[in-house]
Amino acid sequence: MPGFEFFDNVEREQLRDVMDTGILMRYGFGGLRRGQWKAREMEASICCVAGVNHALLLSSGTAALATALAALGVGAGDEVILPPFTFVASFESILATGAVPVMADIDETLCLDPQAVRRAITPRTKVVMPVHMCGAMAQIDELQAICREHRLFLLEDACQAFGASFHGKMAGSIGEAGCYSFDFNKIVTCGEGGAVVTNDTILYERADRYHDHGHDHSNDDRGAEGHPFAGYNYRISELHAAVGCGQIGKLERFVAIHRKHKKTLKEALAGAPGVTFRRLPDPDGDSATFLSFFMPDEAAARRVTVALKAAGIDGVFHWYDNNWHYIRKWEHLKARAFAHPLYRALLDAMPDYANVAFPQSDAIISRTISIAIKMGWTDDEVQKRAETIRQAVELGIRN
Ligand SMILES: *Cc1c(COP(=O)(O)O)cnc(C)c1O
Repeated sequence: MPGFEFFDNVEREQLRDVMDTGILMRYGFGGLRRGQWKAREMEASICCVAGVNHALLLSSGTAALATALAALGVGAGDEVILPPFTFVASFESILATGAVPVMADIDETLCLDPQAVRRAITPRTKVVMPVHMCGAMAQIDELQAICREHRLFLLEDACQAFGASFHGKMAGSIGEAGCYSFDFNKIVTCGEGGAVVTNDTILYERADRYHDHGHDHSNDDRGAEGHPFAGYNYRISELHAAVGCGQIGKLERFVAIHRKHKKTLKEALAGAPGVTFRRLPDPDGDSATFLSFFMPDEAAARRVTVALKAAGIDGVFHWYDNNWHYIRKWEHLKARAFAHPLYRALLDAMPDYANVAFPQSDAIISRTISIAIKMGWTDDEVQKRAETIRQAVELGIRN
């Protein structure tokens, strides 16, 4: 799955370009950098891939989400609706702006259930943040319609879905803003990195300023620039951007390899007893980084997970037991364990997650198994793996 599987001279040469000038910062140093602007270059490529007018590359996907929320003007007293099946970064970024994370159930797309979103809307709701989990997209048309109806911002957490699409529109390009992650485990990696994309020029400018201490980037002399508002430092370095410049050119090939491998595994599992597959609102737009399927119940999912691991299959995830991706194990959030005090008003407004139940999401995630697709497998290996997986599933379901 991760782009680092296929590092080669392309990334090395990009890095050499940067080291030859020695300018590791993305801003300034005009004369010394001899025309090397790697962050800008990758931003232009992201715009092409995503089909958007603006892309801002920054230090992580988490920083991208926090920056997008700040640029949207979302903060104290505002509610952001997100799913309880995601990476912890989604709620972390909301808390970072002082807004309230309000979780709504997922459905068999493994993403936000539009009906659950409707139920979660209050007069304080400002944003709906669907998370396109495990390489494929949410029912984004319905979510967008809800946002239009209620005048809410749609912010796509597309950190796991760079390269996925919905009827021709790229993940991240549909909402007011979208966010990508290029961390070390994503399909395209900078080592660490992320991006905010949008078609809204004002939103882009606000994000651009916020992620660099409020600098308006009007000037080649950083000391002489204006600061329309205060920000943070979420900048990317030229070294990270250089790696991304090398990787992003390979995205199409990466997606094609994932799709080929996934098709083989899925065909082998189709018709296996008790197996049904994740619902994909647009199957043709799947970036195919994971094969996700459901077992009839939690116990069967546990047995099959054990059988798969015993058969030597790696990259198997039963998310129900996973500390990072599902609310069931987010003990720190439930215990309200924060490094520093949060405002009383925020704590009072936040649902008490130690005592909020998500029976609909539980019923899905407890039965869900995902298998990560690796690009480096040979066709022979994929074929063998497909047979092993099928046998392990049959064994697990019987026991
Ligand atoms: C990876 C990821 C992020 C955060 O990205 P980082 O670059 O690791 O900060 C956010 N949301 C989801 C769903 C992710 O998978």
